[in-house]
Amino acid sequence: MGRIFLFLLLPIFIFAAQVKPFKWNNGESFLNFLEHKKLPLSLYYNMDKEDQKLTEDIPYTANCQMLISSKKTIKQILIPVNDELQLQIYLTPKNRYSMRVIPIISETYKEVLYTQIKSVPYDDILKATGSKNLASIFVKMFKGRVNFKKDLKAGDPLVIVYEQKYRQGKLFSMPEVSGAMIEIGGTRYALYRHSDGRFYDIKGAQIEKFIFKLPIRNARITSGFTKSRYHPVLHRYRAHVGVDFGARPGTQILSTGDGKVSFAGYSNGYGKTIKIRHSNGLTSLYAHQRGFKPGIHIGSNVKQGELIGFVGSTGLSSGPHLHFGMYDGSTPINPMGVMKKKTEGFSGKEQRVFVAIRSKLDRIFNEKLRTKPIKSRGYDFQDTYYVDKESFKVKAF
Ligand SMILES: [Zn+2]
Repeated sequence: MGRIFLFLLLPIFIFAAQVKPFKWNNGESFLNFLEHKKLPLSLYYNMDKEDQKLTEDIPYTANCQMLISSKKTIKQILIPVNDELQLQIYLTPKNRYSMRVIPIISETYKEVLYTQIKSVPYDDILKATGSKNLASIFVKMFKGRVNFKKDLKAGDPLVIVYEQKYRQGKLFSMPEVSGAMIEIGGTRYALYRHSDGRFYDIKGAQIEKFIFKLPIRNARITSGFTKSRYHPVLHRYRAHVGVDFGARPGTQILSTGDGKVSFAGYSNGYGKTIKIRHSNGLTSLYAHQRGFKPGIHIGSNVKQGELIGFVGSTGLSSGPHLHFGMYDGSTPINPMGVMKKKTEGFSGKEQRVFVAIRSKLDRIFNEKLRTKPIKSRGYDFQDTYYVDKESFKVKAF
């Protein structure tokens, strides 16, 4: 009985309200956004400091949604701040707007792609999975190690072992690759993700160029990078999209790498802030500064290790520290994942961990090469799920 009643209500609901998707506006501040939508600015001022800072890191590419009633009243707005948390602005039953940070519901599947080269790896991976992100991650991984243009021939196999998030049945967020291989004329090139999150070749040699250095001498991390953490006392979801270094006021801040200053000024949450764009497309951010080194301005070229400013407590800061961020486009990434690392190969326990990871991935690679999954589908999945190519819905076997 109750179910029939719901079915009767459903069409009314659909006609009464409308969901409007929109992209976060490049460069728009959260306060501007509230103003444009004629929402109370108190929504921002009533947030606590950490949540306010979160609003400054909404990626320009964020896919937002607005639910509007037939009377053009905004009933709800969802703004993703990363792939795990979103801001929810909603109309309460008392007709007041409220805001909170809530998790984004998504499902993660372990997947294995097997395909054979028909044109170039990027196109073949995109065709098999529909994921531009996966295709470009693969190409970046092997860049400089394999000459795809020269050596590759039709029929050469490649395998990628990865995790993919789905939201409402659609590909969502960046895939997490744990290993990948490509065979060229019978020679295998394989890369494995170690427990430190970085890729190594079969001998355990680093493949990434670790060009970045810590921005503070004798750095002491007081708060690490996290996309989502539940605070048991505050009963809130939290994110911290950078690394905090505890340091005395006035401590020198050094550029993490060569680059060009793309921002030097004041931002609400981050206070006196410098952003530096590096040649590999990443941007580093240095917040809460007491002051900049004289002469530093937008357009300045800086060298790695060059003094750019001094530790302070400007903006929404609980005390003197450096908030250090790293961005790929407008998406925050963990800065510690791209810092220079002092290792000359593995030894002891770390070596054993790496060998275990490598063996597991090699087993998956070999299995895929042996079983040669049905070509027409071009890809299959480790677990009992697959994605329908037409609808992108996750289906069970
Ligand atoms: Zn911080």
